[in-house]
Amino acid sequence: MEDRKKFSLGYYLIIFSLILFLETIFFSGTAVKEISYSKFKNLIRMNKIQNVIIEPDRIYGLEKGPATEGKTKPDAALSQEQSNFTPHQKHTPWYLDFGELAGKRQQKRDRQFTVVPLKDPQLLQDLQRHDINYRGKIESHWFSHFISDWIIPLGLFFLLWSFIMRRMGKGSNFLSMGKSKAKIYEVDSSQKVSFEDVAGVDEAVEEVKEVVSFLKEPNRYTRLGAKLPKGILLVGPPGTGKTLLARAVAGEAGVPFFSLSGSDFVEMFVGLGAARVRDLFKDAKTKAPCIIFIDELDAVGKSRSQGVYTGSNDERENTLNQLLTEMDGFDPQVGIIIMGATNRPEVLDSALLRPGRFDRQILVDRPDLAGRKEIFKVHTRNLSLNKDVNFHTLAAETPGFAGAEIANVCNEAALLASREGSSTVSHHNFQDAIERVIAGLEKKNRLINPHEREVVAYHESGHAIVGHLTPGADPVQKVSIIPRGIGALGYTLQTPLEDRFLMSRSELLGKIKGLLAGRAAEELVFGEVSTGASNDLEKVADIVRNMLTVYGMSRHAPNLSLVEKNQNPFLGQGPMLQQRSEKLEEIIDEETQEIIRTCYEDAKQILIKEKEKLKDMAHILLEKEKIDEQDILEILGPQAWKKSAN
Ligand code: ADP
Ligand code: MG
Ligand code: ZN
Repeated sequence: MEDRKKFSLGYYLIIFSLILFLETIFFSGTAVKEISYSKFKNLIRMNKIQNVIIEPDRIYGLEKGPATEGKTKPDAALSQEQSNFTPHQKHTPWYLDFGELAGKRQQKRDRQFTVVPLKDPQLLQDLQRHDINYRGKIESHWFSHFISDWIIPLGLFFLLWSFIMRRMGKGSNFLSMGKSKAKIYEVDSSQKVSFEDVAGVDEAVEEVKEVVSFLKEPNRYTRLGAKLPKGILLVGPPGTGKTLLARAVAGEAGVPFFSLSGSDFVEMFVGLGAARVRDLFKDAKTKAPCIIFIDELDAVGKSRSQGVYTGSNDERENTLNQLLTEMDGFDPQVGIIIMGATNRPEVLDSALLRPGRFDRQILVDRPDLAGRKEIFKVHTRNLSLNKDVNFHTLAAETPGFAGAEIANVCNEAALLASREGSSTVSHHNFQDAIERVIAGLEKKNRLINPHEREVVAYHESGHAIVGHLTPGADPVQKVSIIPRGIGALGYTLQTPLEDRFLMSRSELLGKIKGLLAGRAAEELVFGEVSTGASNDLEKVADIVRNMLTVYGMSRHAPNLSLVEKNQNPFLGQGPMLQQRSEKLEEIIDEETQEIIRTCYEDAKQILIKEKEKLKDMAHILLEKEKIDEQDILEILGPQAWKKSAN
């Protein structure tokens, strides 16, 4: 496609230059000097004109040449001039003649001129008086006019038009401008992607499968009154297989699958993106049950509040609004599921994530050790491997790799093997390939070195242990030391725990202890702290401030709310604090520090008591990179403090 476009662009250029070329040829005959009317009259008066052709909108004239100077019979002069050529023609070759003829022509052209005619009833009398040969002429240079008035403007228009068309995308014309570019995913058996091809992200695959089964058997779910999900959002770092997963859905769902990328909506013409969304949903409704997949959702779904001061993109906003409207506008019973994918959930407009829109999020995270092993297997299926290839070692050597990077490693290894001239890919090829990919990655996102990994393992184990043993701390479901992508961060951001529970003071304190335990564990094991806890500390500061100023939980100034009622929307969000007295401020500062100090001390005590478990857990983490609730229970035993009712 790309090649053909380039070809046709060259085509237009050729045609265009041809037109220009023709134009210069046909116009060269008329490219003569233009003189003013007064000068023209002067020439007549001075008897310097040989003959004149009068057209309605132009007068062409020929000055007398040197040979005919002084002669008054122009016709005779002309014929004499012509007769000059004839003797030569017999003796000289035609091309010399031609040159001579061209030379004469050039001389003649120098004497030609044109004048813009004025209303001058005297003109004919003057011409007659000076015995100048004149005649009228109706037919103009129709051919050159045809070119200059029609062909060139049309050509230019055509060029512009085709340029616009090319910007609009392949195969479209003006009539289909607002039509969506979504293509129904053809189920081409040669490159059909199945769930088998997506490895290492089993939980995400399970969730997606479940959603697909909603579509296939809606009755099973709606019978019990359950609502079908409308939108599911695949969230995760780049290269973890979000697009791949969507393609697997397309291959396996057995329903029409509309697929397009968010950037397709953002068009050069105002209103087109919105039209495209409308069209897409109209199409989808006729094909239901079906799936709409919008890749790179952040391209359309960026928060509308962003860019208020930098000048927002109205076009994108219109598109987003249209998308929201359409998502609200259909009944989930018709069986349309909208899938989105993004690496940057944190920039999405919060309206997109509300119930009834992309209300279900599926985390597609970087794979753990076992997951990487599986992905290695998937991507070496078609390679002939040497017996010495050990997937376990390979997976262990690629912490933090996403699926795309592993695919890259496998490809690179095969290339290295073939460069060596060997018929199979061996283990050392993979190792070389890993080194190459790491070198490339190091520039992009820092990979963790072994010491850092150990620190992280103890830090996370600290959180887990204190969280498990302290009432009120967030229950621990999973601990992982896989380098977190932004995806995971965004994931937790969207479920603010604080608003969901009525929390007691001791529960809040427990939460703080859990948050501080990461750093406490570092201090305990390594004797110093790292920067890894900054996010925890931020959350701690937030909780403590709310305890003292919003919830009135201060010991020294109890039941005092410092929230200002009249919030000024221009001074930022969140509760604005009242002017407080200096003394009150001191009390609160002191108490803040006190709470943090005691919580940290408590966390540390718990960890000292459970030092063995801390070690065990960190070792398991270093080995497996990820442990789930089951493993945690095995190491730590059941949560003693948990009420049976909960
Ligand atoms: P994303 O859309 O999340 O950025 P892609 O789905 O485009 O990532 O992944 C790019 C390529 O990397 C895929 O085509 C596939 O070859 C490989 N890949 C990524 N994740 C996986 C995975 N979980 N299992 C197998 N291959 C994967
Ligand atoms: Mg993608
Ligand atoms: Zn932490």
